Amino acid sequence: MSFKDLGLIKPLLKAIDAQGYDEPTFVQEKTIPLVLEKKDVVASAQTGTGKTAAFALPILQLLFDKQDASKRQKKIRALVVSPTRELASQINENFKNYGQFTNLRSAVIFGGTSIEPQIDILKKGVDILVATPGRLLDLHKQDYINLDYIDILVLDEADLMLDMGFIDDVKKIERLCPDEKQTLLFSATIPYKVEQLANTILKDPERIDVTPKASIANDISQVLYYVPKRNKIQLCLHLLRNTVKGNVLIFRRTKFGVTKLENRLLENGYKVDSIHGDKTQSDRQTALNKFKNGYVNILVATDVAARGIDIDELDTVMNFDLPNVPETYVHRIGRTGRAGNIGIAYSLCSADEKNYIKSIQEFIGVQIPVEAEHPFPLDPKAKPTVHKKKGSKHKKGRKGSGSKKKKKRWY
Ligand code: AMP
Repeated sequence: MSFKDLGLIKPLLKAIDAQGYDEPTFVQEKTIPLVLEKKDVVASAQTGTGKTAAFALPILQLLFDKQDASKRQKKIRALVVSPTRELASQINENFKNYGQFTNLRSAVIFGGTSIEPQIDILKKGVDILVATPGRLLDLHKQDYINLDYIDILVLDEADLMLDMGFIDDVKKIERLCPDEKQTLLFSATIPYKVEQLANTILKDPERIDVTPKASIANDISQVLYYVPKRNKIQLCLHLLRNTVKGNVLIFRRTKFGVTKLENRLLENGYKVDSIHGDKTQSDRQTALNKFKNGYVNILVATDVAARGIDIDELDTVMNFDLPNVPETYVHRIGRTGRAGNIGIAYSLCSADEKNYIKSIQEFIGVQIPVEAEHPFPLDPKAKPTVHKKKGSKHKKGRKGSGSKKKKKRWY
């Protein structure tokens, strides 16, 4: 499924391209068509799933489609209510990014900061307003905000909003908007009180559930680097020199890969040992002890050899090769960030591993933040290395065989 398949218009597709998104996330795939059909939606999706784009993109499209008809001065037609100023600012940033090739305007207002600049922005007219509940009601009371033209209301992080005691404010805001509107409610979880709120203010909503199959502890940060396969070792050395702090467990898929990387690291003066299936149990134990006692601060391992080993105070995990099984990713990075420590998991992804990262992200239910600022970026158009099978004369799907032609994927 592509963003184009979801029926999004060109100015939005161009902006999505500029963001470097290849495909919609699960919540985007489910939500965007429903919002475009003007349905009310309740989605259980947490931050990290791509939920902001799931409502921002179709909202921009609906407002863009309608705007030529009305030459009137800009009126607020979409309102996003968010519990915290950080979230509200982020949402507004998203609207600005996704709407950069439209002439739609968005703004954010929140409490705890000077009201005057916010009033100035509102006076100029905005199409989309992102707001925290208190400041919104305050500015509405002072007549700087007119909610009579709202077509779409979004309640984001509804569970947090209710936990923070905003229930009455939220209900009030909803009543200030016209009855005839589309309402979207997003919440990390849907406890009873959120369900009740949804039942009172949404009309026959469609439900979307993005519960991840596996969760990663909050105290593990994840970072993803896209890098050509041939530059992985250089990037690894660059990260070890400049970014990685403390001890690091590096995973490779094969014994051969482990030895190759170990040798390169030794050549570069690092204190390193390794564990893999060709080593005796006692050699593996010695390597592990050296790592645990700090005699070496880099351990390179295969998954099988590393299974079951317990290392307290592991600062960093590096996925030099991505695992082809998503569960393995969770096991690997779960070794860091233990016992209240903050851990970091770096993943290096080459063109032929893009499908692995897609499955991993679906499995953990979040998009891993990408670090694009590094010396060996992967050209998004790069083709993976193709390994031809020896002696495979019979190709599937030849012309005239009647088989359905499959769209070729480069990754
Ligand atoms: P959110 O859940 O809205 O906080 O989004 C989490 C992160 O995912 C943000 O950094 C977005 O830029 C990113 N993101 C959103 N949609 C996509 C997508 N389709 N592909 C890759 N990254 C995305």
